[in-house]
Amino acid sequence: SSAELRALLLSRIRDVQDHPKPGVVFKDITPLLADPVAFNALVDALAALCTRHAATKVVGLEARGFILAAPAAARAHLGFVPVRKAGKLPGDTLGQSYDLEYGTAAIELQTDAFAPGDRVLIIDDVLATGGTAEASLELIRRTGATVVGVTVLLELGFLGGRERLAAALDGAPLDAL
Ligand code: AMP
Repeated sequence: SSAELRALLLSRIRDVQDHPKPGVVFKDITPLLADPVAFNALVDALAALCTRHAATKVVGLEARGFILAAPAAARAHLGFVPVRKAGKLPGDTLGQSYDLEYGTAAIELQTDAFAPGDRVLIIDDVLATGGTAEASLELIRRTGATVVGVTVLLELGFLGGRERLAAALDGAPLDAL
């Protein structure tokens, strides 16, 4: 059941206090990745969402999003597309900058990543402030592709990411497993 899946996934996510800096509780998913039963159940659930939303491509956000999105895409028989930090992807790219607590960050996507009519599901591990997902939504839309949803393993509700993303989602679903 979905309640059992939630309990299994939560039991394999570890809180690490004050990482990477004081005051942050880091959600460490490495115990989940190391557990074959939990990891397989997670990939199954992500692949089921790809199918439910009729995605044709799956985007993973660097770096932990890659670990979840790539096997989910393969299991759903879809292609995988990386959104990377600026300067990593070869060839022609589109970029998007966004604000962090201190300073800015920039992400990139290859201009030829999508075909006309592609329906894209964005996958990441944790939704915190929503800044990364919001920038990714805008970046993908600029290619002309349709974003059919954002899916995360874990949503930190108290940071307001869902509210921040509402306008960019424009009615597309935000699923948190
Ligand atoms: P944000 O743009 O604020 O939603 O941050 C999202 C990105 O930062 C995700 O790719 C997460 O991997 C990472 N992240 C932010 N906060 C945490 C946290 N408390 N624990 C683990 N990862 C986090």
